[in-house]
Amino acid sequence: MLPPKSTRDCKKGKEIATTRGMKAFEWTVIGAGPAGIAAVGKLVDSGVKPLDIAWIDPKFKVGDLGEKWRRVSSNTKVKLFTKFLEECDVFRYRMAPDHKLKHLDPETTCLLGEIADPLQWVSDHLKVAVHAYENKATTLNLKNQLWEVEMGGETILSKNVILATGSTPKKLNFPALVEIPIEVALDDEKIAQENLGSDTVAVFGASHSSMIVLKNLLNAGAKKIINFYLSPLRYALYMDDWILFDNTGLKGEAAIWARKNIDGKWPDRLERYHSSDPNFQRHISSCTKVVYTVGFDSRTPPKTPQYHELKCNHRNGIIAPGLFGFGIAYPEKVEDPFGNEEYSVGLWKFMRYINKVLPLWKRYAP
Ligand SMILES: Cc1cc2nc3c(=O)[nH]c(=O)nc-3n(C[C@H](O)[C@H](O)[C@H](O)COP(=O)(O)OP(=O)(O)OC[C@H]3O[C@@H](n4cnc5c(N)ncnc54)[C@H](O)[C@@H]3O)c2cc1C
Repeated sequence: MLPPKSTRDCKKGKEIATTRGMKAFEWTVIGAGPAGIAAVGKLVDSGVKPLDIAWIDPKFKVGDLGEKWRRVSSNTKVKLFTKFLEECDVFRYRMAPDHKLKHLDPETTCLLGEIADPLQWVSDHLKVAVHAYENKATTLNLKNQLWEVEMGGETILSKNVILATGSTPKKLNFPALVEIPIEVALDDEKIAQENLGSDTVAVFGASHSSMIVLKNLLNAGAKKIINFYLSPLRYALYMDDWILFDNTGLKGEAAIWARKNIDGKWPDRLERYHSSDPNFQRHISSCTKVVYTVGFDSRTPPKTPQYHELKCNHRNGIIAPGLFGFGIAYPEKVEDPFGNEEYSVGLWKFMRYINKVLPLWKRYAP
């Protein structure tokens, strides 16, 4: 419950609690990508009143998944996306329009756009039920057992805050080369418009994204592609009840393509070199453009001036009392039966994780 001094204030037909003249909430979720949607869904399903939830995102377009990765071939099967959508009663997925996802073979992979569409539908109706702010959270301060959440032009109070702020692609520094942004290189339709017929394109990395980018660049007619890598390709291996390299191994279309074209016979216009190759300088100076597919970093969260640097506990998501990290920015660390540790990233994995940690978070307020 909010502190006793709070009153209720009727704004835009919604009754909102106020404390010290500011709107006050039990929970604030920052970010409306898949993780933010899961967090809002699980809070409501667990009994938190929608109007006791503030939800902040500049766009509410299903985060990077909805805006940048629609044309990317998924590494998980359709059935896991459906499980995600069916997991929260408040998503009302059974009542969703007839999106393409409903007609796909549950055992196949798909384009991420197929999951982005129903997620947008869920986000749209959740946004109306809670108190949504189309804004960017800039600062968090803990005072009187409440977090002050500053946004452009407004500050709200919240007993608990979930950061689901996503990640940004990592980059290397080769300023002499023109960078093709990863969101363009991962989109077969956008990369086809880049006129790469006279370009030699350097691609750094050997991940799921790297394989899709290599395939897209070949299909887009790049004159030559040079792939610089640090390690051998890694494939996910499906065991009876667990998956080896579940989060870091190649799966789906990317794995099929890589076995044939990378660990098989290289296509004519592709060369590959280890990044420590003695002729690295010669190879890189033959390139005109570059794509970095070397992983992702957590997006810079809102400032927390009281604390020098906040760290998230990767086993339970706790950052501070009443402050929790979730989604690709703060993934769970998991261990396979052989003791290999990985960060667990993916929509269904976020849902499984929040099922475990939410009961804890609900008791770890300031
Ligand atoms: C190439 C690629 C392929 C993938 N394939 C799969 C797959 O096949 N299956 C699968 O399950 N997963 C897949 N993933 C992983 C999955 O897409 C991501 O993990 C997921 O989209 C991350 O969701 P998120 O909500 O954590 O972050 P995001 O989608 O990045 O959302 C974060 C949101 O927070 C907002 N935000 C950030 N800072 C603030 C702030 N200060 N104030 C307000 N709002 C803020 C952002 O604007 C954004 O809307 C893939 C990821 C990539 C990159």
